Amino acid sequence: MAGFSDAPFAEILAVPAVCVLTAFLSYFSQFVFNTTALDPGPLSRNESVVFNTLLLCLWFSYFRAVTIDPGRFVFEEQVLDADGRWCKKCQAPKPPRAHHCRHCKRCIPKMDHHCPWTRNCVSMTTFPHFLRFLLYANVSLWMLGYFFWQRFYALWETRHMPAHLGPSLFALISLAMTSIIWGVTTLALGLMLLTTLQGWVLNRTTIEDMEVDRHESNIRNGSREWWDVTGPDGEKLQFEEIEFPYDVGFFANMAQAMGTANPLLWLLPLAGNPRLSKTGTGPGWTWDENGFNRKFGMWPPPDPEKLRRAGRDWELSRRNYDTELQDAGLSPEEQVEAFRRRQEEDLKRRNRLMAELEEIDEYGSDGDHGSDKGSYRNGWVNRDGERLRDYGVDEDTEQHDEDVPIAELLRRRKGAASYKDE
Ligand SMILES: [Zn+2]
Ligand SMILES: [Zn+2]
Repeated sequence: MAGFSDAPFAEILAVPAVCVLTAFLSYFSQFVFNTTALDPGPLSRNESVVFNTLLLCLWFSYFRAVTIDPGRFVFEEQVLDADGRWCKKCQAPKPPRAHHCRHCKRCIPKMDHHCPWTRNCVSMTTFPHFLRFLLYANVSLWMLGYFFWQRFYALWETRHMPAHLGPSLFALISLAMTSIIWGVTTLALGLMLLTTLQGWVLNRTTIEDMEVDRHESNIRNGSREWWDVTGPDGEKLQFEEIEFPYDVGFFANMAQAMGTANPLLWLLPLAGNPRLSKTGTGPGWTWDENGFNRKFGMWPPPDPEKLRRAGRDWELSRRNYDTELQDAGLSPEEQVEAFRRRQEEDLKRRNRLMAELEEIDEYGSDGDHGSDKGSYRNGWVNRDGERLRDYGVDEDTEQHDEDVPIAELLRRRKGAASYKDE
């Protein structure tokens, strides 16, 4: 799946392809069962009702996984500073667990990954529909597998009969073809269901899985030097082991993801999803933590290697704080404008810096791509050779926050002014 969303045809063809595949497996196979001489004959009435009800649930959940809005943070007024993470692309604070999606082109609440097959982000709001889609798809496939097994078994039982008394060539070829496609689809969707169920119970998104991997690898490979890193600002940063904080117990995790503590609603295709409040607080803006860390809001753990690189090349990208402090004496509108300009300049510097970093990496890469412990090569790569980018994350916005919020600049300016007064 890695990089699939980037292929130009995928954007247009993925959803129709899923529809064609679903229709082929579900309706063409029923057509073959019901119109050919394959034993044990057409589906019984009960089989037919159950199978087609599952299919309706599948279609409806898929429709919602594709069409439900993955969420959008609305700020009542332009926010110029933030205590925590900041998105350069949105020019807005980035709440915990949100990531900037390259495809949706905005920050997505509790982004899991951008799914090419639904052409939508799997997020706080779309997760329940995505999970229900996978559940109904898998159960339908298992039922279809049972129908195939019945028919193959019947063929085997009658193997000594003269061939001309058996089913037609069309029936046999159709059965073979649909069951091969069934096998591939069942395997792929089964794996997807397993990883999605695991993420549901552990309250961990695909992206957070990568963050956990990266952090564990840092801890494992960490000799003392990993623990004190000079960050881009020249400040010393101390590293420590951080627990994944959003696992608040399996039932609470599951209820939180589905937006209701009533398990009967979890499977219902008509049931809703968690909603993102417009008030800037509540689900999507803040998340319950299990309290295992010494303070709240420590996730995600910083990436020492990225910081080290940024620190190494900081001279290249040093900002001119004097100008920024002068800017800070402007009217609010002008401050916004100045802030924008600074962000643009920063982005340019950043890109130049990143381009140089890429070159260094290219030159110095040791080719351990795919080693079982994960590695750094143009950024973090997990043991499957995947990067955050492969899940749709805009990695440019995942850097250590080197933008000093304007509130901090104003504070420094006040400091400078009082110094002058003396
Ligand atoms: Zn963003
Ligand atoms: Zn997206």
